[in-house]
Amino acid sequence: MLNQDQNTKPPISKTLAEWRAQLTEIQYVVTREKGTERAFTGEYWNCHDDGTYRCICCGEPLFSAASKFDSGCGWPSFTAPLDTSGIAEHDDTSHYMRRTEVTCVRCGAHLGHVFPDGPAPTGLRYCINSASLQFEKK
Ligand SMILES: [Zn+2]
Repeated sequence: MLNQDQNTKPPISKTLAEWRAQLTEIQYVVTREKGTERAFTGEYWNCHDDGTYRCICCGEPLFSAASKFDSGCGWPSFTAPLDTSGIAEHDDTSHYMRRTEVTCVRCGAHLGHVFPDGPAPTGLRYCINSASLQFEKK
């Protein structure tokens, strides 16, 4: 995984049964089985409040509302992570597509994908499932 050696916090490792007990069905399917919530159904795609989005599994702060933008795609979208050492990116060739998967470095949760069609300043669109996030309003 990229960036793993830069993260000083110890990784979190739990069994699938432990994750299942901690998470709701959709949160488990998204983060542990690399599922995708249906567009426009998640809790945060239309959230415009100021604050921090944390990993639903381990609580690690992953994205700031300051980098969130209206992509119109139906999922929370960000131009950048809060800290690049907090997320890992992997090649994903499933579903006959070439995409870049984004995961939480600390616990390995699947978060979503990053696409090269975002706005300035990064030109990136981190397209993240609401079900993988927990919003902490400022
Ligand atoms: Zn996590």
